[in-house]
Amino acid sequence: MKARPERLALLGHPLGHSLSPLMQNAALRAAGIPLTYEVLDVGRRALDATIESLRRTRAAGNVTIPYKEDVLAACDRLTATARAVGAVNTYWTAIDGALVGDNTDAPGFAAAADQLLGGVPPASTLAVIGAGGGAAAVLHAMEGWRPREVRLYSRTMARAQSLAKRFPSLNITVVDTAQAATRSTSLVVNATPIGLRDEAVPVDVGALDPEAAVLDLVYRPGETAWVRAARARGLRAQDGLAMLVEQGALAFERWFSVRPDREVMWSALRASR
Ligand code: NAP
Repeated sequence: MKARPERLALLGHPLGHSLSPLMQNAALRAAGIPLTYEVLDVGRRALDATIESLRRTRAAGNVTIPYKEDVLAACDRLTATARAVGAVNTYWTAIDGALVGDNTDAPGFAAAADQLLGGVPPASTLAVIGAGGGAAAVLHAMEGWRPREVRLYSRTMARAQSLAKRFPSLNITVVDTAQAATRSTSLVVNATPIGLRDEAVPVDVGALDPEAAVLDLVYRPGETAWVRAARARGLRAQDGLAMLVEQGALAFERWFSVRPDREVMWSALRASR
């Protein structure tokens, strides 16, 4: 059984620009929950002691780059989703004191895709660019959709090949260019940091199918250049904010067993942009 959290904390490094405290604190206020979502920006040397103190103080919260795999290893129990993705982005303390790890990036991505597409994509070919933790969450979500094929491209091909092996239920083809991945696909997902700090794009939108939808995991003020270019071409496109809100809202549901007000979370983010 879950203990009522006595503390909420985001663990990561560096955390200077995280939007999670803004949207989670807005959701906490709206729900009348007297807790503050803290930020624990700790270096690797302090990681073990910090995780131990989270366990001792009956904390719940989130984990972000670069500690999602470390917290997975430190948890006493894992949900099936955390195990399948290989990363923990959400945790809580159980009544028996166990630290439990979950992953809401995968269902958060699925919810963002559902908003963009108006439902589950029909059996078709999908493209994923990137082969890190974000891509693993995306592939786990895609397992629930039964696509015809998933094309996976990453600049380090060996990383894409080993990621593909972890999802045997998907028909994944690892390809050696982003163009080859995206040709004649119905949904193209960017799971790299390309476009986070500049106007770079993961693949030219001119090469995409005219019916394709574009889902970027990256978000930045004014949206990413890739999302803007896709819209200008008449494609359906969404940046990573929808996934951020959904993964955060699903985490809130895990901690408190109530639905947060997603509109309040969105308003807090919009006010900061
Ligand atoms: P990660 O584990 O570090 O993986 C990053 C992937 O992108 C790797 O395949 C890496 O390739 C590739 N990559 C990195 N820089 C690149 C570049 N300049 N050109 C081409 N490929 C590059 O990171 P992650 O956790 O998967 O996160 C990826 C992005 O998704 C980040 O921007 C993150 O903020 C975002 N994200 C957003 C949400 C959300 O809620 N919206 C959730 C999760 C992640 P190599 O192996 O060759 O380095």
